[in-house]
Amino acid sequence: MSSNPLANHVMRTSLWIIAALFVWSALPAAAQGPPNLTLPENQVTQISDHVWAIMGFPNIGIVVGERGTLVVDTGLGPRNGAIAAREAQKLAKGPLLYLTTTHYHPEHAAGEGGFPANTIIARPIAQQRELEEKGMQFVEMFSSRSPQMKELLAGVKFRAPDIVFDKEMTIDLGGVTARLFWMGQAHTKGDELIDVEPDSTLISGDVVQNKVAPNLPDDNASMKGWVEILGKLRGDGWLQPKVWQHVLPDHSAPGGSMLVEINCDFFSLLQARALELKKQGKSADEAGQTLLAEFKAKFRDWSGLNAIPNIVNHVYAENP
Ligand SMILES: [Zn+2]
Repeated sequence: MSSNPLANHVMRTSLWIIAALFVWSALPAAAQGPPNLTLPENQVTQISDHVWAIMGFPNIGIVVGERGTLVVDTGLGPRNGAIAAREAQKLAKGPLLYLTTTHYHPEHAAGEGGFPANTIIARPIAQQRELEEKGMQFVEMFSSRSPQMKELLAGVKFRAPDIVFDKEMTIDLGGVTARLFWMGQAHTKGDELIDVEPDSTLISGDVVQNKVAPNLPDDNASMKGWVEILGKLRGDGWLQPKVWQHVLPDHSAPGGSMLVEINCDFFSLLQARALELKKQGKSADEAGQTLLAEFKAKFRDWSGLNAIPNIVNHVYAENP
């Protein structure tokens, strides 16, 4: 990035605008147009033996054990958080209620106030730090987008989590375990994924979506980190890589065992092509346009492809 303060300012401002646009573009095509900001009630979808989902903005994961229930993500603001908590209580078999968040953005984390006060909140340290640093800034940015968002986010405050962990922790819910894990910087610095066993289900947040181009909303995102994480999830270098039978992403449809693989291929190819064009001396703008056309032709059923020029800017900036 340039050291000229004005250029920096223009860059930051344009990144904010891009960030605002991206949340919409990351939605599945069918949900585009004004997204429904309110989570649907009484419409849970079963993903695997112990995992259900509320399909909405975003998809909420609910893992149900004999002793406890884990909710993954809150919905936008406390009113949605209360809906997520109620749906979880309808499915629950045991008394304990856990909440975790895939990252700190408002539709994932800002509904915690709608959960009962005795909910046990757990998240990675990296995500907690990022939430403290930028959480309210994002709440204000979302609030400025529409009167409805403003209303849903009115009075949002974040409370201290009950548990923070460095890289991973496993919650035994009774007959089912949820391993909450953090692998580094991708869509944000604090992205968390949840591995549910014996279901062979991965609740993947933004990190593994169903045919959606990477959403890099600001400098807390890293394409390089994301590609590395996908490689590790795919099990590069392992004799017997782990394969999840079910993957529940936050802003796209659930999928099967191929999702990690196809994301890894797409992300690696996009990064490699951008670096190739950079090596040939192409400007970031030029490379962005070239790859936008190239990927639109090659990956017709993917959404979020209009983000490619921004992704290419990221790749150039991350590899000076
Ligand atoms: Zn996000």
